[in-house]
Amino acid sequence: GNGMLEGISQVADLDASKLTVTLAKTLKPIPPHETLTFGNTMSDHMLIAEFDPESGWSSPEIKPYAPLNVYATSSCIQYGTTAFEGMKAYLGPDGEPRLFRPDMNMARLTRSVDRMALPPFNTDQVLALIKQLILVDRRWIPLASEYSLYVRPTVIGTGTGFSVAASDHATLCIMLSPTGPTSAPASKPISALAVSETVRAWPGGTGGHKVALNYSPGFLPLRVAQKQGYEQIIWLLGDDMKLTEAGAMNLFVAVARDDGGIDLLTPPLDGTILPGVTRDSVLTLANAHTARETTLPGLEETLHLHTHERPFTMTDLLRWSADGKLLEVFGVGTAVIIASIGKIGFKGEDIILPTHEGGLGPIAKAFRTRILDIQEGREQWKNWSIL
Ligand code: PMP
Repeated sequence: GNGMLEGISQVADLDASKLTVTLAKTLKPIPPHETLTFGNTMSDHMLIAEFDPESGWSSPEIKPYAPLNVYATSSCIQYGTTAFEGMKAYLGPDGEPRLFRPDMNMARLTRSVDRMALPPFNTDQVLALIKQLILVDRRWIPLASEYSLYVRPTVIGTGTGFSVAASDHATLCIMLSPTGPTSAPASKPISALAVSETVRAWPGGTGGHKVALNYSPGFLPLRVAQKQGYEQIIWLLGDDMKLTEAGAMNLFVAVARDDGGIDLLTPPLDGTILPGVTRDSVLTLANAHTARETTLPGLEETLHLHTHERPFTMTDLLRWSADGKLLEVFGVGTAVIIASIGKIGFKGEDIILPTHEGGLGPIAKAFRTRILDIQEGREQWKNWSIL
């Protein structure tokens, strides 16, 4: 939407029609897709646009991927004024690239940029620019199933000086990175340590936004958890130890009900949880399955999935586990799509989840298969996969 610039200034909004393209003189060889690890390979080009308070957003430019020219006194370096997004481009069976629900990423980017008091822009134009960039670098979209081109739109504050105030200059950059099924292979459940001594987010904080400053405080606790043999962290919150998120994934638990149905719980969007695109997709598909508007592969048509966006605590989890009702725990996010959690460490003990042939539990697997089919364009559903 365009509304945000209204009443702020007369400066130029971002305009995709003013795009200039400077192609790289030599193109990089594309590594074999099996060797790709998440986020470590960049395509040939990136997109840049700059905002200054006198003229507004500059003409966007696609140019060879290269370091940025910013002062060490820049707001993003000194005060962490960085907001970003993560989305994926897939090649469909028709050979055309498509994006998965990009409108949701654009809406979230607007909120994140606004939260960092960075200058707004029209996200329809950002989306148009993302598409242009993907078309320039389309040979970087891997052909193999479950592989994709990860898109990382980033906005940084580039105002200089040590004044502790909003940055009046900004740079939008968009990078592309070919990626595979990430560090959590779908064939193996991951382990996670439930942590309460450090918290990821808190009421009134920035946990509901995709801003860089939410991530770096988690690196040290993650390293500590990994030294103890766990791959991820489940972030707890409050004296009652509510489960919030698992690493950079939203969290779901599936609990057996006495009536034969399943309760599918995920924490509510109370400002401490990132409103994930995958989270919303899982909830939508689960509700549609129960309403018999769709089926989920491998799940009985008559199975009622009762979705709940409500808090749950470690006490709940331990009770469901002891009662034999805890069926599955899984993390969901753009990078992994769905990762089953097989072991949860808490206060020196482990909660062990039921194991399944192939790694994923039937519920996690049903969502993963269905979402991949939509993303890779084998199936149409609500216009979620578009270019
Ligand atoms: N939580 C956090 C903290 C994240 O960084 C992400 C990744 N964006 C998610 C959840 C999952 O969100 P999405 O499904 O939109 O990728």
